Amino acid sequence: MSESTTTHILPAVESFLARPHHHFINNEWVPSASGQTMEDVNPATRHVLTEVARGNGDDVDRAVSAARRAFRDKSWAQMPPNRRGILLWRLADLMEQHLEELAQLDSLDMGMPIRQAQYGTTPMAIDHIRYMAGWATKVEGETIPVSAGNFFNYTVRQPVGVVGAIIPWNFPLLMAVWKLGAALAVGCTVVLKPAEQSPLSVLRLAELAVEAGFPPGVINVVTGYGPEAGAALVAHPGVNKISFTGSTEVGKSIMRTAADRMARVSMELGGKSPNIICADANLKRAVSGSMLGIFMNQGEVCSAGSRIYVARSIYDQALEHMADYAKTLRVGQPLDPKTQMGPVVSDEQYQRVMRYIEIAQREGATLVAGGSDMPEAGPGFFVRPTVFAGVRDTMTIAQEEVFGPVVAVMPFDDIEEVIERANQSIYGLAAGVWTENVRTAHYLSQRLEAGTVWVNAYHVYDAAAPWGGFKESGFGREMGKQALELYTEVKDVWISLG
Ligand code: NAD
Repeated sequence: MSESTTTHILPAVESFLARPHHHFINNEWVPSASGQTMEDVNPATRHVLTEVARGNGDDVDRAVSAARRAFRDKSWAQMPPNRRGILLWRLADLMEQHLEELAQLDSLDMGMPIRQAQYGTTPMAIDHIRYMAGWATKVEGETIPVSAGNFFNYTVRQPVGVVGAIIPWNFPLLMAVWKLGAALAVGCTVVLKPAEQSPLSVLRLAELAVEAGFPPGVINVVTGYGPEAGAALVAHPGVNKISFTGSTEVGKSIMRTAADRMARVSMELGGKSPNIICADANLKRAVSGSMLGIFMNQGEVCSAGSRIYVARSIYDQALEHMADYAKTLRVGQPLDPKTQMGPVVSDEQYQRVMRYIEIAQREGATLVAGGSDMPEAGPGFFVRPTVFAGVRDTMTIAQEEVFGPVVAVMPFDDIEEVIERANQSIYGLAAGVWTENVRTAHYLSQRLEAGTVWVNAYHVYDAAAPWGGFKESGFGREMGKQALELYTEVKDVWISLG
């Protein structure tokens, strides 16, 4: 573990943790109908941080009723769009004032290194809300030159209604605002269910929304487990649209339920992203960028570059650098500003990652770094950054999402071969390409089946750039102007001029 001083927990965070954590419904804190709570564990220490309300169908019902009232009573959808934009902007200002606090909450709750939370994901979340605040006044329809007769024909985009938003634990605040930003900008109301492992920053965000002036019922948060609170939200007839980020497996089951009442759905799901290092790449940059691509956020990133393909002529050299990088990565307490990688989120996740490491070895992959727990990093769920060589495309480690700090490094011989192998996955979320040749860069970008391709970079995101998957990584695009489509219905109007 690093010897530098761990950041002190802010008094505001201490007092937030000490308070009861109820559901947030109609701008009020509401205990669970069942009176039940669940433990929220700090993955770096295994200690219980606090207790949080365990929601069920009754709580979801109350939250959806509040959201429906807020949607229907004209306080939100009919509010002048510039007012909605101003409220979102105010919320972003408040988030900025409380940036450190929000960053610490995510760091404590799921193990994200504080420097990533403070300088990366929390500022990104703030920027996202500001970007979407601007869109509130820019959701336009079209006029259409119809040939059916003497008509004036135009379209309007109207909010889809009440949105049920379900998010994972890997970027708690950021995943919440990806959904809230666009949904609120266009006039929807929201019931948000954070992941059971990491609900705290979202609960604090809800408080800031009251301070910003959001009317009751516009933003509601129900905490709880997926099969209880999450499933109840998906099945609720008062929810018009489900916006889901999480695993492909749960995404499929949600789609089946939503189909019964034709609820709108959008899906941001898993990945097994290929990252291709060509022979002409700047090797130093490619190696450090690719290691960031896998080890950022402990590998708990949907777009983690977990399959690295390296041109055979530079494979041995690249592999050696990657192993060195993995062995020297600073793994430790998330609140230590020097920490580069924290613990994985939970015991369950730790067991899952360890199982994949074991399977990889059993199937014949060669361990070149890591492959075990890391007790010297602390008492939490620490996994040593792990690099595998000798991996075949058919092995489990090359096909399934580990969602942890484990990477498979494989050689390739020519471009057509690597394109085929990279695309041989049920997923299609992101891909990386490292080359100094502009033709190769464009050719690979065009051919790779992925919603995002990074060239000579990895893990770059921007509120203005659309994000989403091909194939079983989901559909719909969050971020960018495309996100507005997820939360609006198009209405076409015919006015007879005859
Ligand atoms: P998960 O699917 O287990 O859980 C996600 C959310 O769904 C949680 O809030 C959970 O409580 C809820 N849930 C679980 N079962 C449910 C059910 N039956 N009905 C309704 N809700 C239910 O995923 P996770 O382990 O929290 O997150 C990891 C996954 O998320 C990975 O597969 C990762 O790739 C994916 N992810 C995707 C993106 C993206 O943008 N594509 C971003 C982040 C994470």
